[in-house]
Amino acid sequence: MKFSELNIPSNILGAIEKMGYEEMTPVQEAAYPIIAAGHDLCALAETGSGKTAACAIPLIQKVDPELNAIQGLVIVPTRELCIQYVTEIQHIARRTNVVPFAVYGGFDKDIDIAKLKHGVHILVATPGRLLDYLYSGVLSFEHVKCAILDEADELLKVGFLEDIEFILSCIIREHQTLLFSATMPEDIKKLAHDCLRDPRHISLITERKAPESIDHYFTYQHPKDKLDVLVKYLKEEDVKQALIFCNARHVVDKMYGSIRKEFESVGYIHAGLSQDKRSSVFRQFKNMKIRYLLASDVAGRGLDFSHVSHVVNWSMPRGRELYTHRTGRTGRMGKKGKALTFVTKPELSDIRELIARNKISPCWIGKDPLQANNSLQERKKKKRPFRPNRGKGKQVATP
Ligand code: ADP
Ligand code: MG
Repeated sequence: MKFSELNIPSNILGAIEKMGYEEMTPVQEAAYPIIAAGHDLCALAETGSGKTAACAIPLIQKVDPELNAIQGLVIVPTRELCIQYVTEIQHIARRTNVVPFAVYGGFDKDIDIAKLKHGVHILVATPGRLLDYLYSGVLSFEHVKCAILDEADELLKVGFLEDIEFILSCIIREHQTLLFSATMPEDIKKLAHDCLRDPRHISLITERKAPESIDHYFTYQHPKDKLDVLVKYLKEEDVKQALIFCNARHVVDKMYGSIRKEFESVGYIHAGLSQDKRSSVFRQFKNMKIRYLLASDVAGRGLDFSHVSHVVNWSMPRGRELYTHRTGRTGRMGKKGKALTFVTKPELSDIRELIARNKISPCWIGKDPLQANNSLQERKKKKRPFRPNRGKGKQVATP
């Protein structure tokens, strides 16, 4: 279905078409009538499937530009996502009088406060900065009619949950609540439900299958060989842009030192950087000024880098949802992408579970350790003496 078939005012429609959006994506098509009708919603759809615009278009339509007050509140877990989200709203609303604005940690508070006093209709925010302004009385939610949690399952995890509950409790008037994510673990579902009133559900990920647009490679390595294997892999692959995830900040720093010796155009991003530096790296990567980006999980969710051809998990992500989000930085909007995950011995049982539960068809570069492990278990069951596996199973040559 085309956007032009909906009841969207011409100033918004014109902006959408200028952005190159003509056909609606499935989540956009499903969410539009629900949001427009004023229902609460929990929408689950793949990474890179256009959830931002699915929410932003009807949200902008709901705002009364004559009323100088915050009417839409979007909460996101990271600063970069905040910038990206508000940018998408700005593009869609550029021909209207709707004023979107983002507040997030690390940015000049005086500028924020001046802008908020002047008038903002849609506020996009990270929880920390929002709390700060709520406590200091800078913000009023008196006219908020729509509250959105993007990456909802992340925002409802311990660590964020209390803040989110408090923020939502500050919206006193009757409002609509919308939750968006690509994942929703069972233990968070109930919390999600508690935020919603008579909600509608969209689930375009019921199969829990990894997106078809991503090929999932794994490689089983001794820790001391990992760097050589990674460098060789990146040199031999046709890399447009690569995002390399590490599990800790100090690992990002260390890897940055190693990778920049081998490649040009390398950057890094983690929460230890100043906000100016973080924003600058984010923009440069988005605009293809950096080719290889080492990152902690601050870049693991929601960020839309359309040119990322390769995602590397230098270490196993902690949790299968995180695997979905990290690898979902590639293969967006129908493009193809490759994900490579390094696996070491202690991670074998985790990887087995990840592959099974996320319904991944893995391609092993080099030895498939699960195959070897399977035959070991089989043989134990049959009480036959073990002879080493000779590399059966789905394998590909080291590229
Ligand atoms: P998600 O939040 O589902 O991960 P995004 O909202 O970040 O996905 O959108 C992914 C990409 O798709 C963005 O680059 C966005 O500009 C683009 N996009 C969104 N909707 C459309 C559409 N209807 N047609 C073409 N491109 C779209
Ligand atoms: Mg998103």
